[in-house]
Amino acid sequence: MSGTIYFDNNATTFVAPEVFEAMKPFLAEEYGNPSSLYKLAGRAKAAVDAAREDVAALIGAEPDEIIFTSCGTESDNAAVLSALSGGGAGARLVTTSVEHPAVLNLAKRMEKEGRPVTFLGVDSRGELDMDELRGSLDGAGALSVMWANNETGILFPIEEIAPLAREKGVPFHTDAVQVVGKMPIDVKEMPVDYLALSGHKLHAPKGVAALFVRRGAPFREFLVGGHQEGGRRGGTENVAGIVGLGVAARLAREGLEDERTRVRAMRDRLEEGLLSTCEDAHLNGDPGNRLPNTSDISFDFIEGESILLLLDREGICASSGSACTTGSLEPSHVLQAMGVPYTSAHGTVRLSLSRYNTDAEVERVLEVMPGIVKRLRQLSPFGRADPAG
Ligand code: PLP
Repeated sequence: MSGTIYFDNNATTFVAPEVFEAMKPFLAEEYGNPSSLYKLAGRAKAAVDAAREDVAALIGAEPDEIIFTSCGTESDNAAVLSALSGGGAGARLVTTSVEHPAVLNLAKRMEKEGRPVTFLGVDSRGELDMDELRGSLDGAGALSVMWANNETGILFPIEEIAPLAREKGVPFHTDAVQVVGKMPIDVKEMPVDYLALSGHKLHAPKGVAALFVRRGAPFREFLVGGHQEGGRRGGTENVAGIVGLGVAARLAREGLEDERTRVRAMRDRLEEGLLSTCEDAHLNGDPGNRLPNTSDISFDFIEGESILLLLDREGICASSGSACTTGSLEPSHVLQAMGVPYTSAHGTVRLSLSRYNTDAEVERVLEVMPGIVKRLRQLSPFGRADPAG
């Protein structure tokens, strides 16, 4: 798209042309409110109903188990609060220390307000200790574990965790925002109670997302208002966005095989190329247990942000593993939890592909990256001989 090489698809994706085309009428002549009673409104309602079926089909749910929301963050917040709703203020939440802020910061706030929260750690490969998880479920009020990590792409074993939570009677939410559209999901096979997904991660627009709530799972409205979404989420529907999400879900279903094969092959070629041509570069996380599109690489002794700036000059978009806060660079909480040393964590770049990337784009990154790394190493205040600085 417009000369840009976009390798930041875990941050957001562009709106697929078919999605944009399907949305257009609902931003123009088809402006009816789905709750009204005339034909104009009926067409909007029918479009929302059709989208609900498409989103449900992508994850093996029933249409009435899908609630449309405004973003993945809303879906996550609504799910965690619902999961805890049966247990009162003292009900303990179990989650992990590597969740996206949509869950992590909610959990931290709850803890500050007096709710007991267990944060499960990960090992150096980014993986959970399943015995610790099992033990933490005794007497727990709710469990929230992400399916795939947005930074490293590491997959948690939801197929093991969900039956465990079910066995212990603990309502279980999984943040699947990074998985939906990239890997097959079937909630009929996987006893999760709640599952969050977000439109802008799968080529639908920003501002629309969904939450799967299994029939019979506790639910507490997060947005209290009108009767929309079966009385579970007040607010007039974002009809155009929902229509877009429906089409994106259909396209994602058709593209799953491509993600599993071609996207994975491009990611592997990119990763192997970078690791073999750049000195002191390491992959973060278990290489065999990841999303097919994500590669998180640390280039020791240089700043990830500097790499990104130089990549940007070449028209290449990627992300770093640091968040810039008030002038200081705080390494990513995920890499910290994995025990990645400071000098590596700061030099981390995440490259995340989509089925719209091409081999030529991969080759272009492989062409420019070694030069960028070399140049920054020459300027680095940390010599390779004295990494602690
Ligand atoms: N959960 C994960 C794993 C994510 O990667 C993101 C977005 O980056 C979110 C939740 C939040 O989604 P949204 O940006 O739609 O609020």
